[in-house]
Amino acid sequence: MMQMEKLVSLCKRRGYLFQSSEIYGGLNGFWDYGPLGVELKRNVKEAWWQDMVTRHNELAVPPGAPAAFEMVGLDCTIIMHPQVWKCSGHYDLFHDYMVDCKASKRRYRHDQLRGRWVEAKGKRIFVTTLAEADSEHEDAQRRALKFFDMRGKDAGQLTWDAKFQSLSSVTDLSQVLAPEANELGTLTEPREFNLMFKTYVGALSGEEGAAFLRPETAQGIFVNFKNVLDSTRVGIPFGVAQVGKSFRNEITPRNFTFRSREFEQMEIEFFCHPNQSRQWYEYWRQRRLKWYTQLGLDGQRLRLREHAQDELSHYSCGTADIEYAFPFLPEGEYGELEGIAHRGDFDLRSHMEGKLDPRKRPLELEVDENGQPKWRGSGKDLTYRDEQTNERFTPHVIEPSAGADRATLAFLCEAYDEDEAPDDSGKMQSRVVLRLNPRIAPVKAAVFPLVKKDGMPEVAKEIYGALKQKFNVFYDEKAAVGRRYRRQDEAGTPYCITVDGQSLQDKTVTIRDRDTLQQSRVKIDDVVHEIEQRINSCGYNKHQ
Ligand code: ATP
Repeated sequence: MMQMEKLVSLCKRRGYLFQSSEIYGGLNGFWDYGPLGVELKRNVKEAWWQDMVTRHNELAVPPGAPAAFEMVGLDCTIIMHPQVWKCSGHYDLFHDYMVDCKASKRRYRHDQLRGRWVEAKGKRIFVTTLAEADSEHEDAQRRALKFFDMRGKDAGQLTWDAKFQSLSSVTDLSQVLAPEANELGTLTEPREFNLMFKTYVGALSGEEGAAFLRPETAQGIFVNFKNVLDSTRVGIPFGVAQVGKSFRNEITPRNFTFRSREFEQMEIEFFCHPNQSRQWYEYWRQRRLKWYTQLGLDGQRLRLREHAQDELSHYSCGTADIEYAFPFLPEGEYGELEGIAHRGDFDLRSHMEGKLDPRKRPLELEVDENGQPKWRGSGKDLTYRDEQTNERFTPHVIEPSAGADRATLAFLCEAYDEDEAPDDSGKMQSRVVLRLNPRIAPVKAAVFPLVKKDGMPEVAKEIYGALKQKFNVFYDEKAAVGRRYRRQDEAGTPYCITVDGQSLQDKTVTIRDRDTLQQSRVKIDDVVHEIEQRINSCGYNKHQ
């Protein structure tokens, strides 16, 4: 089994992730977090919130930053005034291109459908496949053989182009064999498909009551810019953070939770003076990259990729993605964890004046045939006045925008490992272990009585009770202790505390470390402090 399959099966078996509405056959693109998964994701979001907001020291200049700054939070609604999405550009521009298959009635994202050119019997066709990277060739070959009416032993007569490529590289769709079709040319020409989910508010029927589920949390921050300024004492530069659900009607959700239709974002809008926005952009790129490595992602599989000029969103003066080499991607490919965008004054200006024409630079207001703004802005003054210099300006925005589900998935992929550990008789046996950073691990420690007698359970339960005041801990007295260790290794629990015969005499217990397998004896009275210290020790290294 490939590593990804093993991880997916572990997630289901141990209660990290379930398919949404599974008993009804599931719903594509929607996922539920199980008892362990919910803790992991909460810890990821909490680590982000603590590191970005509550533990941020606004009195000190952080390393690499041009100045000290403040950070505050918001929690905005999922459904907002529909005008928000018109002025933000999402109403007109937030779409992907899709193609429909006339044969199978299925719909695919134009740039995500992959295939490969193959030639046989004097005919050259583009065979597409929905298979994952590791089995796409196998699947394409099976389909090509079927199409050309050839047998497995004739596979050598198929002449393949070197690489799989996106369907968007194909100009003539009449040569394409769609994923679930048996004949060529069943795909329609690509068409725009808006990714926002539409709903209706209140009793109004028809378009008057139409509204959208937010496709990003960012806009809630922009429209509250003035409220934050007026209700707090923050001044530029400052950042506003928000964590919450976003919804996108993705055409082809895939790769486990990586591309879902309902997901959570962790976004910061950082407002600064236009003269300093370049420096702040540099600062946030490095700061955010470091956040992932400090929580355990390997620098080798993580990278910061600057967007090429032609890749930039219309308003952006620069965008960099933090990307991770997820195991479900083809060798050498990376998936986006977070985008850090220099958005200039696009958002605040759009919400002030109306929708700006994104194709023109410098930004111009989009007007209708009568010269009126196409989508009217709020008309509110969203500029900023510097109290010291009296200068008035529209702030620039740097936006580090991360996905909580993608980060959680990356931490899981990175943590998955197989090695050997001794069983009860000391013999080495293979084990599966999730080497999660203790700070985000769902369960911090498990407490075991070695055997279910001689007063051991009573002592263990007392330790459990004391730890439970501070952390999520687990008590287990069933099965041989070696098996109990293994179950915790698989759940990613960093420490196991065992009460044994010696505990009753000298009031000590053993603490076993998930990664090093080392056991040390600690006084029962010191257990809470010891676990606390280990979790908080900053120099975490899973391979220490
Ligand atoms: P992609 O190109 O992968 O669709 P994007 O560039 O559209 O992503 P952004 O709009 O920059 O993504 O959103 C910011 C972050 O939100 C992403 O880096 C990702 O972590 C998360 N995100 C976006 N779309 C999804 C999704 N469908 N499922 C899970 N997370 C998502």
